[in-house]
Amino acid sequence: MCPDPCYDVIVVGGGPAGSAASIILRTEKLRVLLLEKSTFPRDKPCGGCISQKTVTFLSERFDTSVTELRQKQVITGKADSVDIWINGSNVFSHTLDIPFYFINRALYDSYLLNLAKEAGTEVHEGTTVLTTDPILGTVQLADGRVIQSSVIIGADGVHGNMRFYLPSYSQEKDTWRSNLAIGIKGTIPWDRWNSKQAGLRPDCCRPSHAGLFFGVVPYGYGWAFPHREGVQLGIGGLIRKNRGKLREHFIRFLRLFGTDPSEMANIRGYPLPFGMVHADAGYKRLLIAGDAAGYIDPLMGEGIFYAHRTWELAALAAIDGIRSGILPDIMYQKYLREFLIPDIRWMKIYSDVIYTGLACHLDIIISGVIHLSGPYIIHNVSNGWGSEINKVW
Ligand SMILES: Cc1cc2nc3c(=O)[nH]c(=O)nc-3n(C[C@H](O)[C@H](O)[C@H](O)COP(=O)(O)OP(=O)(O)OC[C@H]3O[C@@H](n4cnc5c(N)ncnc54)[C@H](O)[C@@H]3O)c2cc1C
Repeated sequence: MCPDPCYDVIVVGGGPAGSAASIILRTEKLRVLLLEKSTFPRDKPCGGCISQKTVTFLSERFDTSVTELRQKQVITGKADSVDIWINGSNVFSHTLDIPFYFINRALYDSYLLNLAKEAGTEVHEGTTVLTTDPILGTVQLADGRVIQSSVIIGADGVHGNMRFYLPSYSQEKDTWRSNLAIGIKGTIPWDRWNSKQAGLRPDCCRPSHAGLFFGVVPYGYGWAFPHREGVQLGIGGLIRKNRGKLREHFIRFLRLFGTDPSEMANIRGYPLPFGMVHADAGYKRLLIAGDAAGYIDPLMGEGIFYAHRTWELAALAAIDGIRSGILPDIMYQKYLREFLIPDIRWMKIYSDVIYTGLACHLDIIISGVIHLSGPYIIHNVSNGWGSEINKVW
């Protein structure tokens, strides 16, 4: 018999992979408990770039429009054009048919968490989950309580421990480690940015324009994104290819723009999985979503969309499992293989070509590849590589 309180689904983590899962589950009238260790609004180091597929996702799933997100100051910037630079040369400039938007992550995550609360999800902030039992469907909290449900969605991010309970993780620990990157970012306010001599730096960034910089860090890239408060400059690169050097690369990157850390606000670094392509993210009653399972685009490091999409697939598998009385893990893996993995595989091919090519000093060839295929890559990064990526049920 189900103990009291009894839940159909427990979601661990209130980031993009967790909070929204509970919205879709609640529309099925399931009893959903979301446990989040911090108290929102909480900041999460992020470039804050969202592509068209995320905008489409938010609009189709929650009826949330760009206009509404702008009014709520969740969207703080937009890019209508993008430049790609390789080792100081501008190899590609492109006007975007569909803009990239830039969000304030603290407000974005809070917005989604509020939607979950409004939909009837029971949300406990400041509550840390210590362990889980995927067979019994229980979680143990830091205060010692044990709570049970039919399905647990582990959406506890890159630092989370829910994935440790997947048998496949113990076999893939080395792959996980070797694909871990660190991103470092900071913001230079517009008044300081504009007071710099424009000629000293790449013609980027101005409001409504984004810059991507390859070659500034091995197996990674740098970015200049227009946010409302200023230009966000950041780099991200694989840890194993940049041992102890990422801060140095970041400082060198800032110098490109005639600036240094003393002029920047809110400099923060944070890990991100960057190149995992595995589909066995479910075991018995436990389904892992978002960064916790390594679902980030291995070319650009875009993770918000994949966090949303994996929670949706996890939620659908949970609903199937609860309705039919069978365990949800097999269904989740089937959905991942069908609707998500092909997209990430395409990007892995591109990222291997670009990052390995640059590491082998094939700048001219890679510049040619980017020059010729740039519009195609940007279109697919923005909209997804396959028609199924945003398929609605
Ligand atoms: C520097 C940087 C720049 C990036 N830029 C972009 C970008 O421009 N665009 C983009 O799309 N992606 C970007 N990403 C990736 C993106 O930030 C992540 O993919 C995204 O945050 C993943 O969401 P998530 O819900 O899986 O994890 P998170 O956002 O990390 O959320 C996990 C949540 O789980 C909670 N939690 C953890 N452990 C527990 C526990 N034991 N109990 C309860 N709660 C717990 C945490 O407090 C947290 O709130 C960037 C990443 C970095 C590091």
